[in-house]
Amino acid sequence: MMHLLKYLIDTILPPRCLVCGKIVLSPHSLCEECFQKVDFITTPYCKICGMPFENQSQAVANFVCPDCLSHKHITRLNRSAVLYNDCVQNMVLAFKFADKTLFSKLFAKWMLPAFSDIQKQGIDVIIPVPLSYKRLIKRRYNQATLLAKEFSKLTHIETDLYNLIKVRHTKPQAQMHGHARLKNIKNAYQIKYPERIKGKRILLIDDVMTTGATLTECAKTLIKAGAKSVDTLTLARVKKN
Ligand SMILES: [Zn+2]
Ligand SMILES: [Zn+2]
Repeated sequence: MMHLLKYLIDTILPPRCLVCGKIVLSPHSLCEECFQKVDFITTPYCKICGMPFENQSQAVANFVCPDCLSHKHITRLNRSAVLYNDCVQNMVLAFKFADKTLFSKLFAKWMLPAFSDIQKQGIDVIIPVPLSYKRLIKRRYNQATLLAKEFSKLTHIETDLYNLIKVRHTKPQAQMHGHARLKNIKNAYQIKYPERIKGKRILLIDDVMTTGATLTECAKTLIKAGAKSVDTLTLARVKKN
């Protein structure tokens, strides 16, 4: 019944910009003005961690950043679709906390071009970064799970949504800096069914990559449980200063 009602409303009413509400041509999209404020990540960026270079001259040593040159990460490749600027931050906050779940359709579409390098390496299964049970109850949905579902629809890669779990409630990462972030989430994740990920190439999906601490900790858990490789794909990325 609800589906029918939604269908009727959607066909009668014109689609609106997800940010400002202005009438637009296609559903789950932005108007021209809002779209202009989105900063898509384009080359040059580090071909391993995906960090955008400030300018061409910074793109040294075969497009690998100093950080990736100096040490090997547990993840294979990291990619993000857009920069976490003010406009994207507002969208992500609405998506996360204000039930604006339709954003997942738009965001998944944006993430598709950022996925191309990873796709070439091969992916067997998509796994979202989980929330703790406590936070999930409060928020009622996991934004990363919504993204993973939409991304699976676009790529036809299967998902394993409830295998990686967060077993320990932690303070929000946004309240901490640098090393404290790593410590905060150490051993916070577990795999329920390791046999399902053994030998698999995993695509880990989340909304925002800040320092990468959460993604790294999830990747460690997955690799420890037998995953062959872990690549990460996020909607947005906070640029290091
Ligand atoms: Zn708009
Ligand atoms: Zn790098």
